[in-house]
Amino acid sequence: MTSAPPVMMGMKLPDIDQWSERVIVALGQNPSVFAGPGTNTYLVGTGPERILLDPGGGETAYIPFLEQALERGACRIQEIVLTHGHPDHIGGVRQVIERFGELEVKKQPWPMMDETHHVEITPIEDGSVIHTEGATLRALHTPGHAPDHLCFILEEERSLFSGDNILGVGTTVIPAESGNLGDYMASLERLLEEEPTRIYPAHGPCIEQGTAKIREYIDHRLERNRQILDALDQGAALPMEIVEIVYAAYPKVLHPAAAQSVVSHLLHLEAREEVARNNDEPSPHAARWRRR
Ligand SMILES: [Zn+2]
Repeated sequence: MTSAPPVMMGMKLPDIDQWSERVIVALGQNPSVFAGPGTNTYLVGTGPERILLDPGGGETAYIPFLEQALERGACRIQEIVLTHGHPDHIGGVRQVIERFGELEVKKQPWPMMDETHHVEITPIEDGSVIHTEGATLRALHTPGHAPDHLCFILEEERSLFSGDNILGVGTTVIPAESGNLGDYMASLERLLEEEPTRIYPAHGPCIEQGTAKIREYIDHRLERNRQILDALDQGAALPMEIVEIVYAAYPKVLHPAAAQSVVSHLLHLEAREEVARNNDEPSPHAARWRRR
């Protein structure tokens, strides 16, 4: 019997929690199959004004919990900082501004996504530093899950806000269209070099052994490449046929997302000339694949 794979589906976390002297977390109240308990929204710092990192997806139920989190820290919001432009991160910006007044919003630009949320951005990039009392965040451009993705080192703790690059449970989805597995692998290597202590992910619980978790993520992706090549050897050709083999132990509801990941792996393996398409089907999802 195989044990159930780790997935965030159905996981519960407290609505508000304090994970360190400098880090208060409030749940975005947007649970889903993929986001598990929802987006972790963070108040970072120790002073009367703190950074709000990723204000969730815009659920109205979130605002009272954000108010409680601010009470707990006896603080106001200094500014909003975003890890990336996916809707469960940027989608909450408008309602926070409507409730608390104009706030600067910092992120690495991804115009196509940013514009759909009508958010005015102050651009930041790799190496940008954001400071508040008790906390210094240093941005690391870590594309792959999303092209605009930033992770942040909290210098005072050498801990890492990993956004969607590393999750508290399970692994992240690399979207086949806007994601890029080669970039993602390079981003994981970059994060490994920082040797972070703890990791504060955008979804799921705090990770105590940060560096070990990054190694695990890298090994997992290499193992997936091998499993996909094996599935092709077994006669699978369509991405969904590969999913049926590689993700046999996972709940079926996760298979469409798994197909995204499989296609991302196939595109990565195609770029490395390890696999090829059997037909001239331009959509990688509909193509039949083989080993080269
Ligand atoms: Zn995301």
